[in-house]
Amino acid sequence: MKTRIEQFVRENNLNYCLECGKCSAVCPMLDFYGEYVYERSPRGVVERLSLTPDEIENEEGLWYCLACQECSFLCPSGVNFEGFMTELRDLLLQHGHKKYAVFCQVCGGYLMPKKAFENFQKILEGGKTGELLSVCPQCKKNHHVEILHRLARWPKAKQ
Ligand code: SF4
Ligand code: SF4
Repeated sequence: MKTRIEQFVRENNLNYCLECGKCSAVCPMLDFYGEYVYERSPRGVVERLSLTPDEIENEEGLWYCLACQECSFLCPSGVNFEGFMTELRDLLLQHGHKKYAVFCQVCGGYLMPKKAFENFQKILEGGKTGELLSVCPQCKKNHHVEILHRLARWPKAKQ
């Protein structure tokens, strides 16, 4: 399993990360889960895997990413974190590590991370779908790009 993970790291350019932070700025996990946890972010996951790659089957932090591809679209260095996470989760599932995943009740195929599923249920039961379901992906992306543009202008405004 370790060799496959190293292959995923290479193929998805994870070692090219410049630590610019753009992926964290656009990542919807903060809005969705209501908290920012570094260990769940792209940099946090990569750091964690590079330290002890043999013990990842019990890593719940690998099962928060929503696989939305926002970070991959906007990364200036070609890091495909979403691709990496998808391959890594497939590998974990193939090896029987299923406790953090939810599966389709009809076909039994992988549906989504358990944490994401539970959060969707909580939001929908409360009747507060808010921006999560009422705003289209393109508008959400535009909103995040606006934030990025504001951040890019910020140092100049301070001078
Ligand atoms: S956007 Fe890309 S280069 Fe920047 S911190 Fe994220 S992965 Fe690294
Ligand atoms: S693919 Fe995952 S890490 Fe990247 S922006 Fe989406 S939720 Fe965040």
